[in-house]
Amino acid sequence: TMQIFTPLNFLGFVYREIRGAIANINNLFTILEKRSSIEDRPHAPALSIQNRKLTFSQVSFGYDEKRLILQNVSFSIEPGQKVAVVGESGAGKSTLVKLLFRFYDVSNGTIFVDNTDIRDVSQQSLREAFGVVPQDTVLFNDSIWENVKYGNPTACDEEIWHAIRQAQLLSFVESLPEKENTKVGERGLKVSGGEKQRIAIARVLLKNPPFLLFDEATSSLDTHSEKRVMEAINQVAQNASTLIIAHRLSTIVDADRIIVLHQGEIVEQGTHSQLLINNGRYAKLWQAQLKETSH
Ligand code: ADP
Ligand code: MG
Repeated sequence: TMQIFTPLNFLGFVYREIRGAIANINNLFTILEKRSSIEDRPHAPALSIQNRKLTFSQVSFGYDEKRLILQNVSFSIEPGQKVAVVGESGAGKSTLVKLLFRFYDVSNGTIFVDNTDIRDVSQQSLREAFGVVPQDTVLFNDSIWENVKYGNPTACDEEIWHAIRQAQLLSFVESLPEKENTKVGERGLKVSGGEKQRIAIARVLLKNPPFLLFDEATSSLDTHSEKRVMEAINQVAQNASTLIIAHRLSTIVDADRIIVLHQGEIVEQGTHSQLLINNGRYAKLWQAQLKETSH
């Protein structure tokens, strides 16, 4: 009988591997973006994390030699801190995330996790240390339950319910005809942008990673669902060192530090109130967004 079951197990394994690869990569970028060609160093060890500190040290990068996208970017996220990066579209914010994931390697400088250069460890172990909520989450054609469980396939039922509650999904789930077994995704129930993002957050909660990345996770939402998603984000962010790339500044006023990126350079950093006092680029962005929302 082993001979009958082995190929099926193998197919199951391959299926899960592929789903895993799609979830990790596609969560961040579109499926069309070409896969990383960066290779691990021979015998690269797995990343081991002690403090959950993240450091960009004098990082410069260009997708090609003609144009530098990031120039001499230095900042760090202390363990448990929430740091936000803001700046106009094209400033280089998502590029920071791609470098962190080693879709590309820096041209100059170093990215450290604790004191480890991320080029010295396996990419798989590096990516496992991050939970990502991208701008648009892709749901599988499966139940809500499975979509959440995906964050940690070995989680028990109680942990999954906990994640659903913390991501503020419980009342939504309870309102559905088949509750947590309701199918979502393209062939299932169409869920709103805010619900989708909260499913992604529940997934990340279940994974409980040391580092969290939100890349404009609320930018496609209306103000009301944005508020609920931000509340969910703040729940998750309690246990992790967090990098939030924000479009709307109202979502990051409480960040430990805000980094203002302009044409690939850090032009200002500080807390929301410090930056308002500085009366520089951040203050201008803030004023502009206040005007937008009051119209
Ligand atoms: P942001 O997230 O702040 O809007 P990005 O980091 O996405 O900015 O992009 C910064 C700059 O890098 C932009 O000018 C963009 O056109 C360019 N860029 C982004 N991805 C690529 C790529 N894969 N190849 C070449 N240029 C890119
Ligand atoms: Mg971006």
